[in-house]
Amino acid sequence: MAVWVSAGGCGLLSPIRGRLRAGRAAVLAWRVPLRAAGTGPVYDVVVSGGGMVGSAMAAALGHDVHFHEKKILLLEAGPRKVSGRLPENYSNRVSSISPGSATLLSSFGAWDHVCSLRFKPFRRMQVWDACSEAMIIFDKNNLEDMGYVVENDVIMSALTKQLDAVSDRVEVLYRSRAVGYTWPLTCHLSDTSPWVKIDLADGRRLETKLLIGADGQNSMVRKAAGIQNIHYPYDQSAVVATLHLSEATDNNVAWQRFLPSGPIALLPWSNLHHSDFIDTAGSVFRSAISLLMPSGTAARQLPPSIARVEPKSRAVFPLGMGHATEYVRHRMALIGDAAHRVHPLAGQGVNMGFGDIACLAHHLSTAAFNGKDLGSLKHLLQFETERQRHNLSLMAAIDLLKRLYSTNVAPFVLLRTWGLQTTNALSPVKEQIMSFASK
Ligand SMILES: Cc1cc2nc3c(=O)[nH]c(=O)nc-3n(C[C@H](O)[C@H](O)[C@H](O)COP(=O)(O)OP(=O)(O)OC[C@H]3O[C@@H](n4cnc5c(N)ncnc54)[C@H](O)[C@@H]3O)c2cc1C
Repeated sequence: MAVWVSAGGCGLLSPIRGRLRAGRAAVLAWRVPLRAAGTGPVYDVVVSGGGMVGSAMAAALGHDVHFHEKKILLLEAGPRKVSGRLPENYSNRVSSISPGSATLLSSFGAWDHVCSLRFKPFRRMQVWDACSEAMIIFDKNNLEDMGYVVENDVIMSALTKQLDAVSDRVEVLYRSRAVGYTWPLTCHLSDTSPWVKIDLADGRRLETKLLIGADGQNSMVRKAAGIQNIHYPYDQSAVVATLHLSEATDNNVAWQRFLPSGPIALLPWSNLHHSDFIDTAGSVFRSAISLLMPSGTAARQLPPSIARVEPKSRAVFPLGMGHATEYVRHRMALIGDAAHRVHPLAGQGVNMGFGDIACLAHHLSTAAFNGKDLGSLKHLLQFETERQRHNLSLMAAIDLLKRLYSTNVAPFVLLRTWGLQTTNALSPVKEQIMSFASK
């Protein structure tokens, strides 16, 4: 079980590499970034920030057939996260991954790696209020997975493998921090470069036709572009830890309880002593019962009791909300936490980032296919409109939930009790919520 509780209170090709490539004949010549006199190499796309979102963005473009003749660079300030062998102990940093995100990761082969490493599907979610008896149960009776709990390190490992697989198209520079960006003029004068210039901490300078900022909540790309970020801290911190359960359970339920001091969530993890056959047979039997007795399976379940906390697995993260007023500018786009930061109560942060990637990669792929300028505002604005429409409504809902459940004042408790009970009774509404959250 993983738990989180919130409580108050190839950039530059080296000369050697260049010579080696030269030896591999003319077909590879297009892979060497253009280098205008007196400037750095010019890339088609530079992704700044190689966390889960930036790495997935670079891998998605690298595997896109319309990008085969493009040169992509991923810049990451930190070291390469290699994982030869999966550690026996679970990491305390996990994400609940939606089916939509799993589909995105599958589209360029990364989900297969996740499945071959470690992940845990869940099929039911029970959310309840500590101040009343109200609760809501999301259940996938048709045996579909509602989502997957995956360690962030496992996702990074899978993405790194997929980046390695396209290393001839996607260069990755680890331990390379961007320290400055210079934007081109929108009306291009013949003596100025039309591209975005990127200065690295080690003094190198690169240029790109499109800069994608995936550099997290304190995004330097966003700041350098002068884009306003509406943000506020929640004065809460998330505490994460790995827990051991006292008793054997199906362990395919995600639990969340809203306490006035903040939500507490238990995400299923391992399923020791279970076989897929028994689990599937049990689920089929439960589905059959639910057809005969529709109300029988939606009964309140008690969460498992906790035996102990895995030593040294506790960590704390400050929480806040943030949203960039613009996601794009001429030759620049923001994705992931660089564009939006949410409270983890709905487990949506990285899923929103993966949604950004699916949308941006689609528009860029079409632009590449049509031979259009990748940095043009025309298709970047389409990306912004689509994603802001989705992200803003989700962020508003998460923020409302956070505020509604942060109080034990009677009228609000009554309001949310009725709201939760009504939603729980309306299956079509629940289906809508599940379908929106699974994107
Ligand atoms: C407790 C907790 C639980 C969560 N649970 C979930 C969940 O269940 N489901 C979910 O969807 N989301 C969850 N989230 C949110 C999720 O973790 C984030 O949304 C996600 O990690 C953001 O990824 P990112 O790649 O956009 O940003 P980051 O992870 O911040 O990555 C940014 C990267 O950019 C690099 N970088 C920064 N500046 C530069 C620079 N100048 N040059 C080069 N590189 C740079 C950094 O080194 C870093 O690697 C949770 C968050 C918390 C805190």
